[in-house]
Amino acid sequence: MDFAIPNELTNSLSRFKDYINSRIIPNLRSWNRQGAIPRAFFQQMGENGWYGLKFKDGQIQGESTLMEALVAEELAIVSPGVAIAALAHVDLGLMGLYLFGSRDHHQAYGKAATRGSSVMCLGNTENLAGSDVAGISMTAEKADGGWILNGTKAYVTNGFVADLGVITAVSDPQAARNNRLSMYLVNLNQENIRRTKLNKQVWIPSDLTRLKFDTVFVPDGHLLGVRGRGLQQVLEIFTRSRVPIAALTLGGAVGAFNLAVNHMRKRKIFGRPITEFQAKAFEISKFYAEIESARLMIWKACWQMEREKNFRQAASLAKYLAVEVARKVTLWAADIFGAASVVHEHPVHKYPMDTWGSSLGEGTQDVQKLIIFRELMKRWDAGD
Ligand SMILES: Cc1cc2nc3c(=O)[nH]c(=O)nc-3n(C[C@H](O)[C@H](O)[C@H](O)COP(=O)(O)OP(=O)(O)OC[C@H]3O[C@@H](n4cnc5c(N)ncnc54)[C@H](O)[C@@H]3O)c2cc1C
Repeated sequence: MDFAIPNELTNSLSRFKDYINSRIIPNLRSWNRQGAIPRAFFQQMGENGWYGLKFKDGQIQGESTLMEALVAEELAIVSPGVAIAALAHVDLGLMGLYLFGSRDHHQAYGKAATRGSSVMCLGNTENLAGSDVAGISMTAEKADGGWILNGTKAYVTNGFVADLGVITAVSDPQAARNNRLSMYLVNLNQENIRRTKLNKQVWIPSDLTRLKFDTVFVPDGHLLGVRGRGLQQVLEIFTRSRVPIAALTLGGAVGAFNLAVNHMRKRKIFGRPITEFQAKAFEISKFYAEIESARLMIWKACWQMEREKNFRQAASLAKYLAVEVARKVTLWAADIFGAASVVHEHPVHKYPMDTWGSSLGEGTQDVQKLIIFRELMKRWDAGD
């Protein structure tokens, strides 16, 4: 096993860090105030090839999963809220197009989406169905030449800015629970889709939006994948996106950790820097060890994905561990700043809030534990 990051990734990552310093950090305060990310960000990410998916020979092609994890971590060190917008575009929306789109879909939409000139999102969760992905109730009724969609997607990251949505709906209500859903590629710029931006306190400045569909016509050609396989398809997207969201979550922990350690080395209490209290020095070591171990799990999941091995359990382990570590580290880091940390504008304030977001997106911690247990039992039964 080789832990060295390949040269071409190191070069691209170093360009990405320069980009963060020159184009993200100077603008972050203003984006946070507006609660919005300019479209230019999505384009710059795409034009520089930092999405992990590219358009070549008329189709969307996958690139390095490890690179994607490194990018997610670096961006989230500075802003988990900006990182989640990129992730929702590429790992939720665009991933649906990549995995389940036909060659015609790739040709029609792949170039603009991989370059970020068209922004994507994925809408599955409804008010009464989140963890229970199959329990959604948005309907897709067959009509002449297409489908009519009705219902509401309750929490959609990028829903306010996206041009195209990957949307799940019940196409076959009489079928067995696992075969009721289909997946559609929907042009969101149409009158009978109402977008309501929600007032949230996590992952600022990304948007979280409710999408209400009122008799929305979707042509037959916009069915993604196979009719009746929408559940399996959306679960596959979530399984894959657990790895980058784990990296993003870890990035938040690292961002908070870095702020705290810098502060501890400078701030004097009872006449000496906080790092000189051994109890506090040990906390730094403990959390550093936890951050390193979560990162190793994320890299292992990337390694498995890139070699097309079964990565279902590794992806859930990575997300579960990253959230557990980030919950502890970000709250600890906030504590290190004392009262200053509760002020909304304080740089450390966002990290515990953003970990809260991470603990929900792509499956809660309970859902990760269910998957870890099921995969473990499968291997147990197989005697592995
Ligand atoms: C900031 C943010 C962004 C989001 N972005 C998107 C998006 O872009 N697209 C999208 O489709 N969704 C999105 N979501 C929704 C997210 O995927 C869901 O919130 C998540 O899947 C949990 O669903 P729920 O909120 O309905 O909670 P529920 O499913 O109602 O869960 C409630 C509680 O029950 C527990 N629970 C559930 N099932 C079990 C079980 N079997 N065993 C034990 N405990 C269980 C859960 O762990 C949780 O503690 C987003 C959510 C947030 C907060």
